[in-house]
Amino acid sequence: MDSSSLKEMRRAAEKGLPLSTEAALKILRSEPGDLPEVMACASLARKNRFGDALSMCSIMNAKSGACSEDCAFCAQSSRHGTNASVSSMATAGQIESAYRKAAELPVSHFGVVTSGKALKDGDIDAVCDAALRKKLVRLNWCASLGCLDGDRLLALRKAGFKRFHHNLETAESYFPQICSTHSYALRLDTLRAAREAGMEVCSGGILGMGESMEQRVEFAESLSREQPDSIPLNFLVPVEGTRLESMEIMKPLDILRTIAVFRLMNPKSEIKICAGRIHLRDLQSMVFHAGATGIMLGDLLTVAGREPLKDLQMLEDLGFTLRS
Ligand code: SF4
Repeated sequence: MDSSSLKEMRRAAEKGLPLSTEAALKILRSEPGDLPEVMACASLARKNRFGDALSMCSIMNAKSGACSEDCAFCAQSSRHGTNASVSSMATAGQIESAYRKAAELPVSHFGVVTSGKALKDGDIDAVCDAALRKKLVRLNWCASLGCLDGDRLLALRKAGFKRFHHNLETAESYFPQICSTHSYALRLDTLRAAREAGMEVCSGGILGMGESMEQRVEFAESLSREQPDSIPLNFLVPVEGTRLESMEIMKPLDILRTIAVFRLMNPKSEIKICAGRIHLRDLQSMVFHAGATGIMLGDLLTVAGREPLKDLQMLEDLGFTLRS
């Protein structure tokens, strides 16, 4: 990296200011020898804002598969011939059981996730019923139920949902290559409606879907404008039968540079590393020094996660504490 980009990166990290798109692009294109400096800045930005406490999430797939949408990466789209399971909506009792199981882990958020463009009203009632049950208060409730309108989002907040998750998925300029059945504008509207309904917002997406370096930076900038409370980053795990089944997997150093760029461009947001962490192989523990503030513990939506005890040992070995 040239000296002016390095200087800007250090200044942004020290002051907690968002990095420019030009400097971000230089990080994505930097040499392996620049990585220690990039990681030191990303780590400083994380530490200045969040200290050495990390937070973990756990999710349940409360309704799986049979989705009418055509998201290119998704095993749950009915347009793809995958082996992903198809299940009807979980009952309030099943959601409660999943919550209690998640609460045995040191996670701070429990996410209820459903497939489809938007969850139907009757099914939203089941989700609200579960959250309203007594004594289910240790974990923060998070919902990921598709493109809901203001009234439905308000009902979720009143039932106790603190956070709404809705990914932008990728850069606006690349979104038409990924999905043709709904618009980027609808995704943005949903995010904004969740915030207006009084919920925290969790929004990120998937890297390594064939987007250019410029589009990675464009995506990070879009998130920076929306200022989500939390940004989940996934790295494509190509699933056989989807349109992206043959996509090349991102290299470990590219993943670390990408996390650092999202951290430095979004200094106030949590960054959670979700699917695709496995692509880092032996470098998994470095995500925190690249600026991540947490990971997803346990299984992900359609792919198995790492054994939680292994992740907890990794965090202890790194000397981090956990936020509840
Ligand atoms: S990402 Fe969501 S909306 Fe898109 S196909 Fe998968 S389940 Fe459907």
